[in-house]
Amino acid sequence: MKKESVILIVDDVASNIEVLANVLKDDYQIKVAQSGAKALELALTYPIPDIILLDVEMPDMDGFEVLKQLKNSKATQYIPVIFITSYDTTEEEEKGLLRGAVDYIAKPIRPSIVKARIKTHLEIKSQRDALVYTSLHDQLTGLYNRYHLSEEGGRKFSRAQRTQEKLSVIILDIDHFKSVNDTYGHIIGDDVLVLTSRLLMKFKRNEDVVIRYGGEEFVIVLDNCGVADAKEKAENLRKSIEQLNPKGIAITSSFGVAEFKSTHQSFEELLKEADKALYTAKAKGRNLVVEYSEDLL
Ligand code: GH3
Ligand code: MG
Ligand code: MG
Ligand code: MG
Repeated sequence: MKKESVILIVDDVASNIEVLANVLKDDYQIKVAQSGAKALELALTYPIPDIILLDVEMPDMDGFEVLKQLKNSKATQYIPVIFITSYDTTEEEEKGLLRGAVDYIAKPIRPSIVKARIKTHLEIKSQRDALVYTSLHDQLTGLYNRYHLSEEGGRKFSRAQRTQEKLSVIILDIDHFKSVNDTYGHIIGDDVLVLTSRLLMKFKRNEDVVIRYGGEEFVIVLDNCGVADAKEKAENLRKSIEQLNPKGIAITSSFGVAEFKSTHQSFEELLKEADKALYTAKAKGRNLVVEYSEDLL
């Protein structure tokens, strides 16, 4: 078990926290909260807890309410919660488990049992985290994949609709990539894709998201960025890819750029426009940036 796992212990009574912390502090990083409100705050504060040990009876906000709020937030819904309580009736235990706690431990605690249960739940959590990571990332390049794009794109689209903040999309496709594979082989082709993706990552701002959309196609979603800036960025990228010479191979790429408009129904519609512009860039001879407009073919 990784020693860097973080445990948040929540109890209104300091001596209870101390008992648990003493049992766990040699193996884990410990955070503590003496109220539900503080627990919710610390659940969102770095280092984010990997597991929460939650007292049921607390004044102001009890453990059930804290659990409910953790489950209601996307950021915290998957942090496993173990209830720690002196109320060990079947009804209470059932209530906690039905509301989404992963386990229920009665006070007074037995240190070896607490340790064993925490170890099990941390293992399950790390397996889950690994599965989630794999499902949202591309194996070859380590970039996000299109499943992530459909989630993240949807979120960004809703925000742009709500706030009228700008949002742009760049889609790029390496030109004649089939001939790279045909000439140098698939393995070198893979290397070229990895080196290109690193260049994209180097270019991106923190708030941008880079996705491997397909074989040799990439999408960049740019928050707070209008189409003119996105186009300029794409033009810079186009030049950089032209100069990259990955594995000593000259490559170029074509770009489509589009910007969020209030008439768009979905993120997919925005992406479709960028794709249409990319298609035009290909048709016009490649190694080109094209901005979407309604009169494109
Ligand atoms: P265009 O300029 O029209 O985009 O031509 P292209 O050859 O790049 O496009 P096409 O769609 O004909 O071929 C894409 C090629 O990308 C074919 C496929 O073998 C290759 N490819 C897709 N995914 C991978 C991958 O993971 N690794 C490697 N090495 N090649 C891949
Ligand atoms: Mg209490
Ligand atoms: Mg291509
Ligand atoms: Mg392609």
